[in-house]
Amino acid sequence: MSFENLNLHPLILKAINDAGYTSPTPIQEQAIPALLAGHDIMASAQTGTGKTAAFMLPALHRLAEPSSVPGRGPRVLVLTPTRELALQVSEAAAKYGKHLPRVRVVSILGGMPYPLQNKLLSQPVDILVATPGRLIDHIQRGRIQFSRLEMMVLDEADRMLDMGFIDDVETIASATPATRQTLLFSATLDGAIDKVAARLLKAPQRIQVATQQAKLDNIEQRLHYVDDMSHKNRLLDHLLRDITMKQAIVFTATKRDADTLADNLSAQGHEAAALHGDMNQRDRNRTLTKLRHGGLRVLVATDVAARGIDVAGITHVINFDLPKFAEDYVHRIGRTGRAGASGIAVSFASVKDGVSLKKIERFTGQRIDSHVVPGLEPRFKPRPGVGAGAGGASRGAPSVAHKRNRTWSNDSGRAPAVGNGNWENGRGRSLSDNREKAPRANTATNTFRNSGASSPYFRPK
Ligand code: AMP
Repeated sequence: MSFENLNLHPLILKAINDAGYTSPTPIQEQAIPALLAGHDIMASAQTGTGKTAAFMLPALHRLAEPSSVPGRGPRVLVLTPTRELALQVSEAAAKYGKHLPRVRVVSILGGMPYPLQNKLLSQPVDILVATPGRLIDHIQRGRIQFSRLEMMVLDEADRMLDMGFIDDVETIASATPATRQTLLFSATLDGAIDKVAARLLKAPQRIQVATQQAKLDNIEQRLHYVDDMSHKNRLLDHLLRDITMKQAIVFTATKRDADTLADNLSAQGHEAAALHGDMNQRDRNRTLTKLRHGGLRVLVATDVAARGIDVAGITHVINFDLPKFAEDYVHRIGRTGRAGASGIAVSFASVKDGVSLKKIERFTGQRIDSHVVPGLEPRFKPRPGVGAGAGGASRGAPSVAHKRNRTWSNDSGRAPAVGNGNWENGRGRSLSDNREKAPRANTATNTFRNSGASSPYFRPK
């Protein structure tokens, strides 16, 4: 199928052409006709599937016609759990709407100054992209009116549910016209999401695209067993010195650990910096701009801060600490293998991480093969059955690296094969979610700190 078959406005097609997209991805192929026909939809699709364009193109198609209702409030509202995602959506709106006359996109995000937002909201808005908490503040202060609202998009609804934003989302929805078209995107469409959908959507069409497994196809996952913090630090140093590694994101369990590790890596001569929610906006922007422009080789980040980062140069993701939740593992490793490239995801696991590993492998449906670096072999040998998969003998053997390219094809029901050149590189991302203090992010603990190491990043000579 080509974009021409989707009956989108010619000026939107022009922008798609400028972006270099040759054919719609499966989510776009399914969602766009349903949305143009006016249906509500609930879709399971993750970042990387082209879901942003799947809702933004029909949204812009609506905006090509003037509103039948007078006023200056938004005609399209997109709610996202994080600031990164909100900015990504705003950029997509600007990119796909660039040939349409007068499409005004406004982002209302937590952690940004109120006076500027008040000013932005005092002028006509077409597309409003917001994180729920801050939007509620503005609604309560009477700064937004939704009489013109035609479409409401809940992006990463599962994440909003996890982070405790769903009540806010429902409050916001109740301030909008019942005639609106409602779209819900979520990694899973399970019971909890179904209940939210039942309250907010009208006879939605369900769209299911790539499975977790399909999504991770272009990422080679490796496991390194580690004995202690010193072993971890030596392995990390070794991995970061690999010349095939262009850029990496290293994940730590806590913000403090991200700072400490970034400082230590810098001291060792790596171009490294931290990214987490305790940093001020300017510093976060500066760090992400540097990453995008290749001025930074290693970003040490926490889960929430790094969510949504879409930088094509990231060849490696390293889980210095395993994530507490299996779902976060998928979000983390999805920072590599972007834009049709292949990527490598390395996880460090200690004797204490067996259960977490098992959960991750069950969630992804994929086994993570263990690797050893000659000279940095672990003393600790996993017991059979510990960790995910069969454990035992096969775990100890280094496996061969299979770098796979993205293998989407239309007949497989997955996204179309897209050459590197057709994917845009280095899209601007900045900011991070001010809700980093959400309970999930806070509960993460550093196994090694608890295991009694006095300085988690001490590196022996
Ligand atoms: P998303 O899943 O919305 O985060 O999109 C992932 C990436 O796919 C973004 O960099 C988009 O610019 C890109 N993209 C979206 N739709 C297409 C398409 N039809 N062909 C090629 N790239 C696309």
